[in-house]
Amino acid sequence: MFETLSDRLTSVFSSLRGKGRLSEEDINATAREIRLALLEADVALPVVREFIAQIKERARGEEVSKALNPAQQVIKIVNEELIEILGGQTREIRFAKNPPTVIMLAGLQGAGKTTLAGKLAKWLAAQRNTPLLVAADLQRPNAVTQLQVMGQRAGVPVYAPQPGNGVGDPVEVARDSIAHAQRNNHNIVIIDTAGRLGVDTEMMQQAADIRDAVSPDEILFVVDAMIGQDAVNTAQAFLDGVGYDAVALTKLDGDARGGAALSIRHITGRPIMFASTGEKLEDFDLFHPDRMASRILDMGDVLTLIEQAQRTFDEAEVEKMASTIASDDDFTLEDFLQQMMMIRRLGPIGNLLGMMPGMGQMRDQINNVDDKDLDRIAAIIRSMTPAERANPKIINGSRRLRIANGSGTQVSDVNGLVTRFFEAQKMLRQMKNGGLPGMPGMPGM
Ligand code: GDP
Repeated sequence: MFETLSDRLTSVFSSLRGKGRLSEEDINATAREIRLALLEADVALPVVREFIAQIKERARGEEVSKALNPAQQVIKIVNEELIEILGGQTREIRFAKNPPTVIMLAGLQGAGKTTLAGKLAKWLAAQRNTPLLVAADLQRPNAVTQLQVMGQRAGVPVYAPQPGNGVGDPVEVARDSIAHAQRNNHNIVIIDTAGRLGVDTEMMQQAADIRDAVSPDEILFVVDAMIGQDAVNTAQAFLDGVGYDAVALTKLDGDARGGAALSIRHITGRPIMFASTGEKLEDFDLFHPDRMASRILDMGDVLTLIEQAQRTFDEAEVEKMASTIASDDDFTLEDFLQQMMMIRRLGPIGNLLGMMPGMGQMRDQINNVDDKDLDRIAAIIRSMTPAERANPKIINGSRRLRIANGSGTQVSDVNGLVTRFFEAQKMLRQMKNGGLPGMPGMPGM
C-alpha cells in the first residue's frame, strides 16, 4: 500500500538534499511536486488543497528548526501533516459502561464486512474479551454460513436465527442477540449487517432500523480501499443514511495508491479505526496514523513489527530461539529450519521487509523475495535425515541427489542451501567469539 506516494515523496525529498536554505521558489516547486504525488495517489481534491496550503505555510514560517537541514525540515512537516490527515491520534474502541458493548458493521456487499467481523472478534478475544458474533445479514443466502465459518476460525460463537424459522427478521435477531449476550456473559456484540452492491434506500433503512433497535456503542463503516475515490462517495452516502462513528478500511494490501485512506477522514470527519490487510484473520490491526505516515515516508514501522512478533510467538519460543543462538553448540540445519518457520508465521516476507526503515528503495528486490523460496528451503531441510540436519558435513553427492528428489527440487538448490548454511554457521561462530565477521579488503578488520 501507498507505494506510489512513497516513491514520489522520496524523490521530492532527495531533490532538496544539499540545499543550504529553501527559497520561495524551492517551496513552490516542492509543493507542486507533492501536489502531483497526492493527485496521483488518488487523494480527493479538497484534501490535496488543504494539505498543500499547510505545507507551504509551515515551510515559509519561522517554526523551522535550525538543527534540521531543508530536506529534513520538509520531511518533518510532511510527516506531521500526513499524521494529521490520517486522523492524528489512534482511535480506540469506546467500551460501554454496562456490557455488552455493541459494535455494528455497515457497508456495501463485498466490502469485507463478514471477514472483518471475524478478524475483529479474534482480535478482541485475544485481549481477554468474550465477543459474540451476530448474523444480521439475512439477505444473502450464504451470509449466515459465511459468518459461522469465520466464527469457527476465530474461536468465537455466532448468534444466528434458528434454521427452519424462515428468513428471519434482522432487526429482531440483532435485538435478541443483546439479551443472549447478557445471559451468556459476552462483553462485546459484533453485528454483521446486510450490504448491497450499490447504495440503496432499503438497505440504508434496514441498517438504520437495526441501529435504532440496539443503540450501538460503535457503528463501523466498512469500506474497500481498492475502490479509491468511490470509497469516499460511498462513505458520504452511509454517513447521511445510517451515520457511523469510525471507519474500517479493508483490502489495504491491494491498494497501491492509498487515496481512500488519505481522504476519508478529512471528507467524513470520522477517524479510521481499523485497517485490514489480507484475507487471513491475522491481517488486521488498529489503524495508527503515526505509524502509517512513517511507512509512507519510508521511515519504517518497527513498532508494528515488534507487536506482530509478540502476538505471534509466546515467550518460551523467543527464549528458545535466543538460547539457540547464544549456545556453544553449533547452529544446525534443524535450528535453521525452526527459525525460518517462526519468521514465516509472522506473515508474507515482503510485508515484513516493508516495515523496516529504508526498505522502500529496495522495493523491487523485496518483491522478488518470494515466500515460495522459503517453502522450498523448508522442503529441502525436511527431506534430510536428523543426522544430516545435525551435521550437514556428511551430506555428500548421493545424499544431495536423494534430498533433491525427496523435496522436488534440483541438486543445485540443495547445494546452494548447504553452502549458504555453512556461511551462516561460520558467521555465527565468529560473532559468538566476540568478533564481527571480517570484511575482506578492509585494513584493520
Ligand atoms: P462482505 O460482503 O462485506 O461481508 O464481504 P466479505 O467479508 O465476504 O469479503 C469479500 C471478499 O473480500 C472475500 O473474498 C474476502 O476474502 C476478501 N477480503 C476481505 N478483506 C480483505 C482484505 O483485507 N484483503 C484482501 N486481499 N481481501 C479481503
